[in-house]
Amino acid sequence: MSNHGTIIIGAGQAGYQAAAQLRVKGYDAPITLIGDEPHIPYQQPPLSKAYLKGELTGDRLPFRPENFYDDKDIVLRLNEPVSSIDPAGKTITTSKGSVAYDHLIIATGGAPRRMPVPDRLKDRTFTLKTRDDADALGQALENAKSIAIVGAGFIGLEVAATAAQAGKTVTVFEMQDRILARVASPAISAALQERHLTAGVDLRLNEGVDFDALEADVVLLGIGGVPVDALAQSAGLTCDGGIVVDAFMRTSDPHIFAAGDCAKSPTPFWSSPVRLESVQNAIDQANLIAEQIANTTTAAQPYHAVPWFWSDQYEVKYQLAGLIPEATMMVQAGQGTDGLAIYHFRDQALVACETLGNGAEHMSARRLLDQGNAPVSPADLQEHGTLKGVFKSRR
Ligand SMILES: Cc1cc2nc3c(=O)[nH]c(=O)nc-3n(C[C@H](O)[C@H](O)[C@H](O)COP(=O)(O)OP(=O)(O)OC[C@H]3O[C@@H](n4cnc5c(N)ncnc54)[C@H](O)[C@@H]3O)c2cc1C
Repeated sequence: MSNHGTIIIGAGQAGYQAAAQLRVKGYDAPITLIGDEPHIPYQQPPLSKAYLKGELTGDRLPFRPENFYDDKDIVLRLNEPVSSIDPAGKTITTSKGSVAYDHLIIATGGAPRRMPVPDRLKDRTFTLKTRDDADALGQALENAKSIAIVGAGFIGLEVAATAAQAGKTVTVFEMQDRILARVASPAISAALQERHLTAGVDLRLNEGVDFDALEADVVLLGIGGVPVDALAQSAGLTCDGGIVVDAFMRTSDPHIFAAGDCAKSPTPFWSSPVRLESVQNAIDQANLIAEQIANTTTAAQPYHAVPWFWSDQYEVKYQLAGLIPEATMMVQAGQGTDGLAIYHFRDQALVACETLGNGAEHMSARRLLDQGNAPVSPADLQEHGTLKGVFKSRR
């Protein structure tokens, strides 16, 4: 058996997590974490929130200080895009040459979707994914009076909130008839819409942006993301709107795993494989991979983590536990942005819970969904009033 160890492509959330967790699990072969960005691995969520506001400084973004990697004997290679993978030879190639692996983890994340903009707007049009993107956007905003945001998804709305709080004139263009139309239920959209309107944001619903008539100092494209799977595709790995993996995060090559935003995986919470973009998903998938690589004696459980997600806009925290399929039965409790909860049931079983400013219900939903084979029915919710009550009754 060779001792090339594990190579991880992509030094973001999932890549960092896999490397760190391999050592936690006692893996003692070489680990090489290769990233194309110049920064040591850092968290992305603050980029549209506290970091963009200037409330969190750059030194607080990294998951760990630089010496962590030396201490854990993890070779961190930054600024070094991987240009190809050779699954037959079990090597990857960068501008510095080829490196052999026993196990390969692809954690290349996602990239912001782009759209053509006229030349006159090019210099002031941004997307937001990396720390460098956030620095460029932040710098442009400093001297700007106005920002136009294309797309009312989470990132666009978080930036809208940040910019409105900084006193900018904010206009959001959204083709759908409500914000967060693809990802949240109507009551959540309505409550958050109200909050943005109160902050003075000009929400243009049912309206695509007309770049020719657009007057704004800064433009942000917040129109979703695409998986970074070109490397995997060129290597002949099966891809279909993301790198296709099985319930153990294995790609179509037995020595190559994929995790995080780039991976499309089965989950007990959806009827077909999904590609999720969340911190939780990146961490849990990376942990499952590390467990398998580090521990060759016991069999890992298939991926079953409860999906969860959060977004911060103003003082409001949106949280989702589970995934919201179509045609669920919805039960609403509370109103507005403080304490609202939307419970989603399918076939009399709780499948998801969305909350605004209600961390207790969110945590209870996660715990109850994690129990899997002991579903919560609408009658359980009615009997105990809240999921917190249901959870307590089952302890
Ligand atoms: C602004 C912003 C706010 C967010 N807010 C939230 C939030 O509130 N809650 C939440 O749950 N999630 C949030 N997310 C999503 C979350 O951060 C991502 O889902 C998570 O980072 C995905 O981890 P990943 O490792 O799959 O990808 P990433 O963290 O994106 O890491 C992938 C890395 O791989 C690198 N890479 C790509 N190709 C190559 C190559 N060929 N060679 C070497 N390196 C390569 C990329 O440059 C990148 O550094 C947010 C994301 C952004 C951008």
